[in-house]
Amino acid sequence: MNHEIIALAKQFRMSVLYDGRFSTSDGLSNEEYLLELLRAEAKKREERSAAERFKQARFPTFKSFEEFDTDFQRGVTGKQLQTLAKLEWLDALFNLILIGPPGTGKTHIALAIGNKAAKEGYRVAFTTMDNLVHVLKTWEISKKSACRLGWIKKCDLLIIDELGYLPVSRTEANFFFALISEMYEKASIVITSNKGFDGWAEMLGDAVLATALLDRLTHRCQILNFTDDSYRLKNRKQIFDSKGAD
Ligand code: ADP
Ligand code: MG
Repeated sequence: MNHEIIALAKQFRMSVLYDGRFSTSDGLSNEEYLLELLRAEAKKREERSAAERFKQARFPTFKSFEEFDTDFQRGVTGKQLQTLAKLEWLDALFNLILIGPPGTGKTHIALAIGNKAAKEGYRVAFTTMDNLVHVLKTWEISKKSACRLGWIKKCDLLIIDELGYLPVSRTEANFFFALISEMYEKASIVITSNKGFDGWAEMLGDAVLATALLDRLTHRCQILNFTDDSYRLKNRKQIFDSKGAD
């Protein structure tokens, strides 16, 4: 290919032109050729940014809405799942709080939402509460944490998993409150917790702070209570077949 075309393609970051993989069928008009070229570039850019969104989201695993059994979990109906899956609530900056005992599908739903959102172009950050607290405590001294916090602050959907499993100090609670205060009007926040709101106050060690936090989070919010048995325990897999003699 002409050297000047390659140089200009690099200057304008049209990678489909300089990586040598663009070809069209013969006999296209100038306009048709241009359209195919621009479409190929647009597709490549979207693929690249989707890969980046998934990398930054840091989903620990893949879960989908389709895999979720609403007959087992009565805390959410099939219709509610459909509404969640449409993701319109993300544009309206609604929050979602999933409360319930371990193994009841809270993280599953949070991951299904996150995956769908990242696929559809939303910037998502998935973090455990524990890891978030670590990032908030160390961003001034750790480049890794500073980068992570940078992404968290510009995401459209922040998913905080497992709030309430580990206690937090007063300082950590304040950092967390400051982050939520900064974000709740520009992003949707999904929180999973094994504790009800009373337990949050206890965990944060400050009832006034907990009230102010809940005030911000629940202003535009859906709360789902998952109360059934653990799906993990009910569907426990074993190495040895219980019917087998050995
Ligand atoms: P929690 O976050 O509430 O502790 P998880 O979402 O991690 O629970 O669920 C534990 C495991 O059980 C996961 O592998 C999840 O996919 C599965 N699971 C839980 N509830 C359901 C359900 N209603 N339908 C299908 N799989 C489920
Ligand atoms: Mg979980």
